[in-house]
Amino acid sequence: MNAQRGAQTPAAAWPHLGPLLPGATLGVMGGGQLGRMFVHAAQRLGYFTAVLDPDPDSPAGRVSHHHLKAAYTDAQGLAELARLSAAITTEFENVPAQSLEQLARLRPVAPGAACVAIAQDRIAEKAHFSACAALSGVACAPHAVVRQEQDLSSIDPAVLPGILKSARLGYDGKGQLRVQTMQELTQAWIQLGRVACVLEKMLPLQAECSVLVARGRDGQMVTYPAQRNLHIDGILALTQAHPDCLPAALARRAEDAARTLAQAMGYVGLLCIEFFVVQGPEGPELVVNEMAPRPHNSGHHTLDAFDHSQFDMQVLAMAGLPLPRPRQHSAALMLNLLGDIWFDAQGRERTPDWARVLALPGTHLHLYGKTEARCGRKMGHLTVTGAKLDQVQASAVMCARSLGLPALAALEAMP
Ligand code: ATP
Ligand code: MG
Repeated sequence: MNAQRGAQTPAAAWPHLGPLLPGATLGVMGGGQLGRMFVHAAQRLGYFTAVLDPDPDSPAGRVSHHHLKAAYTDAQGLAELARLSAAITTEFENVPAQSLEQLARLRPVAPGAACVAIAQDRIAEKAHFSACAALSGVACAPHAVVRQEQDLSSIDPAVLPGILKSARLGYDGKGQLRVQTMQELTQAWIQLGRVACVLEKMLPLQAECSVLVARGRDGQMVTYPAQRNLHIDGILALTQAHPDCLPAALARRAEDAARTLAQAMGYVGLLCIEFFVVQGPEGPELVVNEMAPRPHNSGHHTLDAFDHSQFDMQVLAMAGLPLPRPRQHSAALMLNLLGDIWFDAQGRERTPDWARVLALPGTHLHLYGKTEARCGRKMGHLTVTGAKLDQVQASAVMCARSLGLPALAALEAMP
C-alpha cells in the first residue's frame, strides 16, 4: 500500500546529517507565492535561498538570493539547484516526481518524491486515505476511478450525482466537472481529454476544514488547530481560525487524522490535509478530501496569528531542527485577494483601495508581487487579527465591503 511505499522518504534516508543551521542555503522547487513566503521565512532565520522556476518574474525568484530560470525537468538546472542548496523543498505538488528523485540522490529533499507522487495523483491519494482509514478514523468520499472508456460502463450509479476530477494537475477547482447522469459523465470525461480521473460522489457539505501538520526527520510532529474554509466557485475565499470555528471534538478528530496520514507516509515537511464536514447520524462527521505536500492557502493566517507560521515549520522541518509547538495569539480571518478586484464593473483596470483597508484595525496585507492581475488569479491575501472575534469580524466585513470581495455575504452572516 502507499503508506508502505512512502515509509522511506529520501529526507529520512539522511539520518547521519545533523541539522542544517542558518547560513546554509535552502532550495525550493517553484517560485510562486508559497515559495516567496518560504523564502521570507528562511531568510528571516538567516538562511540563503535558491529558487528554481522558469518564470523570470516569479514571486519567489524576485526575492531569493539565487533564482535558477530553468524548467522543472531541466537536468542542468536541477544539478545547479542541488549544488547550491544544502536541502531542497517544493512549493507545489506538480513538480515532476522524477525531478525530486534526481535531487534526492544528491541532497535531502523534504517532502520526499514518494509523498509528492501520492499527493499529485488523486487515485494514489485516495488509495492512501483508504489504506489509512482504519487508523485515521476518516474515510474519503465514495468514488470510482476512470482510466479508460470501459471503466465508465462499470461505474456504480450510486456515485452520481458526482464531480469528475482529473487525477493529475488540478487546482482551484480546475480540471473538475459536475455530472448528474451517466451520459453527462461520458461527455465530461471526453471534455477533460480522456485522461485518468476520479469520479467523486457529490456530498452535501456542512462545512470544510483543513489541518496543517509539520513532521520532522526524527518523526516529531506538531499540528495547528483545524481551520474552517469557505470556497466560492472552487477557490478558497475565506478561512476562519479561532477556537469556535468548528466543534472542538470534530477539530480534534481532524488533527489526529492529519497526524496519522502524515506518519503513515513517513512524511517530512509541512503537509495540509483538507476535509469535508457532512451530517452523520450522530452529528457532524469528517470526510477526507485531499492533501497538499507543502504550505497551503488555508494556512496563511499562521503568518499573523501564530508565533510560528506554516512557512517557519517548512524551514525547520527540512533543516532537521526541532519543531516548536505553534501558539495562536490572535483570532484570525483570512480573505483571499483574487485578480478580479483589480477590475471595475466595466472591466477597466484599477488599484484596490489599500489605504482604506490598512486603516482598519488588525489588517495584515500580503501581496505576492505578481505583475499581471487576472480574474481568478491569487494576487495576495488579507488576514485580520485581534484579541476578540467580534472586532476581527467587524474589520473583515469592512475590508470585504471596501474591496468588493465575494466572502462579504458569509462574513455578514457569521453569528
Ligand atoms: P485546491 O487544490 O485549490 O484545494 P482542487 O482543485 O484540488 O482545489 P478540490 O479540493 O477537489 O479541488 O475541490 C474544490 C472544492 O470543490 C472543494 O473545496 C469543495 O468546496 C468542492 N467539492 C469538491 N469535491 C466535492 C464533493 N465530492 N462534494 C461536494 N463538494 C465538493
Ligand atoms: Mg482542495
